[in-house]
Amino acid sequence: MLKYLKFYESRGITISKAEGQYVWDVEGNKYLDFHTGHGVAFLGHRNPHIVEAIKHQLDEVVSLSTSFNVRIRDEMLETLSRVLPQRFEYVTLLNSGSEAVELALKIARKATKRRKIVSFTKAFHGRTLGALSVTGNLRYKKFFEPLLPEVVIIPFNNIDALDNNIDGSTAAVIVELIQGEGGVNIAKQEFIKALRKKCNEVNAVLIFDEVQTGFGRTGRVWAFEYYNVEPDILVAGKAIGGGFPVSLVAIPEYIAKTIEPGDHGSTYGGNPLACAAVKASTEVLLHDNVPRRAFAQGSKLIGILKHTLENHKLIREIRGLGLMIGIELRITPGNIIRCMQENHVLALKAGATVVRLLPPYLITEEDISWGVKVIAKCINEELSRKTITRTT
Ligand code: PMP
Repeated sequence: MLKYLKFYESRGITISKAEGQYVWDVEGNKYLDFHTGHGVAFLGHRNPHIVEAIKHQLDEVVSLSTSFNVRIRDEMLETLSRVLPQRFEYVTLLNSGSEAVELALKIARKATKRRKIVSFTKAFHGRTLGALSVTGNLRYKKFFEPLLPEVVIIPFNNIDALDNNIDGSTAAVIVELIQGEGGVNIAKQEFIKALRKKCNEVNAVLIFDEVQTGFGRTGRVWAFEYYNVEPDILVAGKAIGGGFPVSLVAIPEYIAKTIEPGDHGSTYGGNPLACAAVKASTEVLLHDNVPRRAFAQGSKLIGILKHTLENHKLIREIRGLGLMIGIELRITPGNIIRCMQENHVLALKAGATVVRLLPPYLITEEDISWGVKVIAKCINEELSRKTITRTT
């Protein structure tokens, strides 16, 4: 029997149905999904508008190189332009977050004719060799060195480190506004402002990796809107296709003019199905006021979590923005995430000690109280288990 080579630990359940904010296993158990396939299903599983658009495109054109025009690509651009700042005059679609990060790094090198790239401790940008090079966590890199040369990783949220490390040889600085995999760590206002200023000073390209934060999750379409700072290159993925595997890189004219045919390529990049998915997802984002709803539901969820758990012995901090939430524990999160699944709420970990919640924007008040009850139950059980183990 052929076996699937898995890179993520098995959760031991088989999912046979998914809709909105819920999934069901083959035994018919219903789960509240705060995992959403690593944050992909933010617009809800099988959002009907997106499913319809993909079905429709399946009947028209599926396989087509971007050498050829196709109506759906123009329609996608027209729709997407409504959620991108005006300075981004060019966008290209790829197939995963890592692939988009790779392209962003290549574009920065070509545009600046420099090589050095700066990123931050605890950053996560993907696992292909270029994206891995700028990822902060050494554990992911251990067996794959040597990676890209001239990558400098400096402390996140530390303004003093910027001056010494970003200079006239720096092609790009890449940063997440909220580090997702690294533990839901929110960038400080002053830090991002100082970073923008420093990149301007030395003409380095500033890349915002909004693969996890982008497309409404934090309560704004883009997390950078909170900072009043725009990047030179924007990278997005996950939610932008409503479940269809697609990512994007957006750049302004002055960078685009340094790019020529042959600088990059991707067989599936910008395929008609991906275009249909991005167009329909953008329509959902706009018509359903997704960022506003994510902010409102996220604030409620964070508020109730804090009210219920903030002074708990096992909790260090509860933090987040919109529907990107981290519960930092004083212990590793494995047992709690397992217990939550047994109680039919799916979550994921971040960093070494954080339970991460990435719910769809559709969650209701009922979902919120269900989720919080289960989290509290599991954290309390873990505390009593630890106390019993300590006293026996
Ligand atoms: N950048 C960030 C900020 C991410 O969170 C991720 C995935 N978790 C990636 C890049 C890589 O995306 P993908 O797994 O789609 O390659």
